[in-house]
Amino acid sequence: MSTSHAVVVGGGIAGLAAARLLARGGVRVTVLEGSPRIGGKLRVSEIAGIPVDEGAEAMLARRPEGLDLVRDLGRGDDLVNPGTTSSAIFSRGALRKIPSGQVMGVPSDLRALAASQVLSPAGLARVPLDLVLPETRRGDDVSVAGFIGARVGREVVDRLVEPLLGGVYAGRAELLSFDSTLPAVAAAARTHRSLIGAVQGVRDAAPKDPGPVFATLPDGLGALPHLLADDIAAAGGTIRTNATVRELRRRDGGWRLTVGPTRDPEQLDADAVVIAVPAAPASRLLKPDVPAAARELAGIEYASMAIVTLAYRTTAFPRLPKGSGYLVPAVESDPERGGRGVKAVTFSSVKWPHLRERDPGVIAVRCSIGRFGEERLLQRADDELTATAMAELAATCGVAELPVESRVTRWGGGLPQYNVGHADRVAKIRVAVAGQPGLAVAGAAYDGLGIPACIASARAAAARIAPQLGRVGRS
Ligand SMILES: Cc1cc2nc3c(=O)[nH]c(=O)nc-3n(C[C@H](O)[C@H](O)[C@H](O)COP(=O)(O)OP(=O)(O)OC[C@H]3O[C@@H](n4cnc5c(N)ncnc54)[C@H](O)[C@@H]3O)c2cc1C
Repeated sequence: MSTSHAVVVGGGIAGLAAARLLARGGVRVTVLEGSPRIGGKLRVSEIAGIPVDEGAEAMLARRPEGLDLVRDLGRGDDLVNPGTTSSAIFSRGALRKIPSGQVMGVPSDLRALAASQVLSPAGLARVPLDLVLPETRRGDDVSVAGFIGARVGREVVDRLVEPLLGGVYAGRAELLSFDSTLPAVAAAARTHRSLIGAVQGVRDAAPKDPGPVFATLPDGLGALPHLLADDIAAAGGTIRTNATVRELRRRDGGWRLTVGPTRDPEQLDADAVVIAVPAAPASRLLKPDVPAAARELAGIEYASMAIVTLAYRTTAFPRLPKGSGYLVPAVESDPERGGRGVKAVTFSSVKWPHLRERDPGVIAVRCSIGRFGEERLLQRADDELTATAMAELAATCGVAELPVESRVTRWGGGLPQYNVGHADRVAKIRVAVAGQPGLAVAGAAYDGLGIPACIASARAAAARIAPQLGRVGRS
């Protein structure tokens, strides 16, 4: 083991993945996690005897990093895929199939779009104007709503794109960056006059038999941080919880971290540091020595949300759900417009057959509540949020019984918003951090908030600080 010391701040998936690479590369590594538990947005617990994730529940299988990590941990054979990914949209008073041919809600198959009845007749009639409108010029980044609305009309934004993007960012289409949140479509739209043509191009370029879209672990994705922690410990690394880092200062070619409560602070020296925490704490830590990065990080906003998990007996459903779940556009869910407040429903026991096998008599359902700007909804008490979720399932699925168990998980500041200008902001952060030897940043705030993207950022961070440590962490 090298005598150099690396400290990773933050024990979420990004911090743990970076720490594992460093430890495996022979570096002495310490992970400092502020909360009492590791995993960050990955957490699983049992409800009615079934392990159902409280945070992230599905890892994209069409990017390699997540699957590779699980395989590297020797658990590749355990990976499971969804039984179905067919989901619906609650639009114009009914659950409707998401039309085929779309990419993140942007349509390319107008027949399928018409058959889905997601849009009103007027909204549907607006879509093909895209084929005859002159090119929509854009220089800098634009909002998702701005560009897509101009091409195919506002209803596509409200009833398809925003709900699908909302599943990832819990964000608003007026604010989200077209380039950062729909990179493939945004790039294709630079070379096609019509947006429908651009989406067709993206679909044509996609692999024809890409395999399952998602994967998870039988005990939930929340099991992954613990597998990583075991591997870090086996490689000689240390993980400390309840170890909030309060200050980071440059010192003698390395860094000094101030850790723990203000009344009893501890100082820790490191040759290199990976900051793998959300943007607000990252900004605070970088402010004294990397103020340019801190300024940009302070501008990244976060959406809060809550996940209400309900476990029902199968008999509670007049008809068992067949799809993996459904999305509710803001124009339908907003309580001020008569909506119920739930933005997405996942029938976990239908989506993941291994959960159904654990107890065929129970159906676990996750209802998610809260988008960016909907903080008022989250001021409701837990039992009100539970009642909101139950009312949603009663209205859309005819569920009349009470759940056998319920659970509310709140994720305050859970999801970074990749708003217009995000890529420029991240580029500025990277330039500022690059000027500091032995410093790297990783995690959801930068180049993708899905688990594979966070792991990719961890790999890049480990590789970046490796020269400072005299050993090269495997990347
Ligand atoms: C409800 C929800 C559902 C999601 N679903 C999915 C999904 O299905 N699939 C998917 O791919 N992604 C999903 N995501 C996104 C994904 O889970 C996250 O983007 C990702 O896990 C973030 O990992 P991270 O390591 O960057 O940050 P985090 O998980 O936020 O970890 C950062 C850690 O840093 C700690 N910390 C903060 N400040 C300090 C400090 N000063 N000192 C020490 N420690 C500190 C925190 O306590 C935390 O543990 C979901 C997110 C949420 C909230």
